[in-house]
Amino acid sequence: MPELPDLVYVARGLHDFISGRIIEQVEVREPIVVRNLTGEPFGACVTGRGILNVRRHGPFLVFELTGHRMIVAHPMLAGAFSIEPKSAGLITFIFKEGKLSYLDAKKMGKIYVVDPGQEAQIPRFTTQGVDITSPEFTEDVFLGLIRTSRRQVRAFLMEQEQISAIGNAYADEILFEARIHPKTFCHQLGPDEQKVLYDSIRTVIDRGIKEVQGANAGLHVKHRDHMLVRNKKNEPCPRCGAKIRRESVLGYDTFFCPVCQPAKRKLFIDWK
Ligand SMILES: [Zn+2]
Repeated sequence: MPELPDLVYVARGLHDFISGRIIEQVEVREPIVVRNLTGEPFGACVTGRGILNVRRHGPFLVFELTGHRMIVAHPMLAGAFSIEPKSAGLITFIFKEGKLSYLDAKKMGKIYVVDPGQEAQIPRFTTQGVDITSPEFTEDVFLGLIRTSRRQVRAFLMEQEQISAIGNAYADEILFEARIHPKTFCHQLGPDEQKVLYDSIRTVIDRGIKEVQGANAGLHVKHRDHMLVRNKKNEPCPRCGAKIRRESVLGYDTFFCPVCQPAKRKLFIDWK
C-alpha cells in the first residue's frame, strides 16, 4: 500500500482539492520523513507557494509548486494523505481553505522538497521504467523486456526499473489473472503466455483503477475489496474453488491458486 491504482485515485483527488491553493503554513511532527534538498529551512522553502498541479510518477506523488519547486512524496508501505480536518499527520500543510496531512504509521515513506535538477537525488525517482498506464507500454515493449529477463516472473513484474509500478498486491492479482505460478522464470514462459501476461497487466490494473475510483472512499483509505487472491489464504479460489495458498517468494508474501497457477516442470539444467 499504496499501489498504482490507489495513487491514480489519490493524485486526482489531491489535484482537485489543492491545486490553485497556497501553502500558508507547515507543521512537522516527524522530521525523520522529510528530505529537504533546497538549502532553505523546511517550512520556509514551501510556504507562500501555490500548488500548480498534483500528478503521479511511478510510485511517487509529485506536487508542482510555483517557482519550479516540487514536493515529491514516496509513501512506501504505509504512507497516505488525508484532507480530513481532524487528521493528525506527521506533516501538515495548511491552506486558507483547509489542510493536507501526511500520515505514515510505519514512518518508512519520505517527503522530499527539490528544485529543478535535484530529482536524481531522490532514490528510484529517475530510474523508473515504462509506466504501465502510459501509451508507451505496448505489447512489443513488454515482450522486449521480458524476453531478456533472467528473473522469476513475480520479481520481474515488481522491478520498477523495467516496468513502473507494480507492488505486491497487484503482482499476485496479475499472475492469477494470467494463470502463471509466481515462481516461474520469465524464460520458461512461451510467447503466448508472455502475451497473456501483458494483457493481464492491462486488465488487472485498469480494473483496479476503476474499482478504487468507484469505491470513492477517503483518500487515505486503502481499497482492496476487489482483490481475488491477495490476502485470501485458505479461502476458495473464485475460479476453481481450490484453497488459495500463501508462500514466501524471494522473501515476499505471495498469494496464488495452486490449481489455476500450476508450477512449471523444473528445468534442472538450463543451457541457454
Ligand atoms: Zn483456482
